Amino acid sequence: MINDLWYKNAVIYCLAVESFMDANGDGVGDFKGLLRRLDYLHGLGVTAIWLMPFQPSPGRDDGYDVADYYGVDPRYGTLGDFVEFTHAAKQRGIRVLIDLVVNHTSDQHPWFQAARKDPNSPYRNWYVWSKKRPANANEGMVFPGVQKTTWTRDPEAGEYYFHRFYEFQPDLNTANPEVQAEILKIMGFWIQLGVSGFRMDAVPFVIGTKGPDVAKPVEQFDMLRTFREFLQWRQGDSVILAEANVLPDTDMDYFGDDGDRMQMMFNFQVNQHLFYALAAADCGPLVEAIEKTKPRPPTAQWGLFLRNHDELDLGRLTEDQRQAVFAAFGPDQTMQLYGRGIRRRLAPMLDGDRRRLELAYSLMFTLPGTPVVRYGDEFGMGDDLSLPERNATRTPMQWSTEPHGGFTKNDKPVSPVISEGPYGYEHINAAEQRRDPNSLLNWTERVIRMRKECPEIGWGEVTALDTGDKSVLALRYDWRNNSVVVVHNLDGKPREVVFGLDMDESRPALINLLSDDHSHPDEKGRHSLVLEPYGYRWYRVGGLDYLLKRSQA
Ligand code: BGC
Repeated sequence: MINDLWYKNAVIYCLAVESFMDANGDGVGDFKGLLRRLDYLHGLGVTAIWLMPFQPSPGRDDGYDVADYYGVDPRYGTLGDFVEFTHAAKQRGIRVLIDLVVNHTSDQHPWFQAARKDPNSPYRNWYVWSKKRPANANEGMVFPGVQKTTWTRDPEAGEYYFHRFYEFQPDLNTANPEVQAEILKIMGFWIQLGVSGFRMDAVPFVIGTKGPDVAKPVEQFDMLRTFREFLQWRQGDSVILAEANVLPDTDMDYFGDDGDRMQMMFNFQVNQHLFYALAAADCGPLVEAIEKTKPRPPTAQWGLFLRNHDELDLGRLTEDQRQAVFAAFGPDQTMQLYGRGIRRRLAPMLDGDRRRLELAYSLMFTLPGTPVVRYGDEFGMGDDLSLPERNATRTPMQWSTEPHGGFTKNDKPVSPVISEGPYGYEHINAAEQRRDPNSLLNWTERVIRMRKECPEIGWGEVTALDTGDKSVLALRYDWRNNSVVVVHNLDGKPREVVFGLDMDESRPALINLLSDDHSHPDEKGRHSLVLEPYGYRWYRVGGLDYLLKRSQA
């Protein structure tokens, strides 16, 4: 397999332009501000940036309600600023992925405006209509408790339109070949402006059948192949990272048996079981999730994440598991959302405990896949539960101890910067942590550097090793005759474990990649480790001695 598949061993950083850095002082983050902060990201070591939607939008779902696919919202800058940014990123070897939100548009999009006004409009059939209120209008809401229905009557059209999400996000009729052609055109446009691919929003809904008579949507997987083919033809190294929270037995439908559909998908299965593992100090279900999501074409890759801009969705856990995660990380009603998730950032969920934060991040960087870091998590930003719904975790970046965390010089930031309590910008900010060699930020930087030096994790075959202790997860990765072993103690108590590497008769030493504490095997090739509470180890298998002996054998 060629090494050129950059996404197999990348470190992706996700941010919203709006809340990252305001350069012109109007209170809203912009591309000029982001450009100024590129060296910060370069120094952190990220190799790709995923930008959340920045196109013109009424902003009722934080930009996931697009009103023009071919522009930049004037609050963030111009297309020119965007290209300056992609160029500057390229100069630093950083790739740019952007959100592609084509399941629906904003109801303010000119296509929808034209469609609703005139049944004969060429855009009418770009959306999904019904003359009568469909029987299943009360089903399938993505935001239960906030969203009341999936079919809303438009007085102007005199018909009901389908919307999987909020009522201001009418679904595009993605079965319509004209809509499909437009999606390709949108991709082609941004590719031309310097991006390396897309985080494709809500993929199961994009490809699902839609209509008043559709009781259970059926995914049209061929559509994914069309997207992939187009993209690879236009620009061979561009990728799609699919947001598809689906069951493992459909993963291969998304990747394609021949690796001819999505290059990447977020691993929601591992994400949810990882949080269960952290909550219950039990890695059993996580190992199962790793095993179940193992089958994938060699060119495919998982996006591995802890928290993202949405709620931590726990919908794939069993009721008991979910309750365990709620109890540990989101016990108050105010912390929970849509009956299935937690609307908190990672640091407050883990009580700001440095050992647990390192453990969680160490896991994210060493589980099978490509890590996706959320802005501010690299130095432990918190949340603001007084903000509605998912906005709690979308507050502006905390750069320094200057007013508004140095995010803006304006007195009215687009969203309030966290300024009170232990996560206020006076305590948690990038500038101070950069000066402190022992800060979480500098730890993250070192770990990213080491993760990039462990291509085995991105490329290799993973095996879970038997530690005999459910609170200690040990994984081995093999790639091109090199191996890496990572061990994590999920428990708040020290654990002693003995494990073999499961590697044939050889008895290699384990060379610690993060400290001097190497491990030498006993005569049976087993390793004994004493792990401190929440302790973790990254090892490369076999030191120089071992390699020498092996080459002489
Ligand atoms: C995004 C959400 C958004 C929704 C509708 C999701 O899956 O992650 O933030 O609200 O799509 O576009």
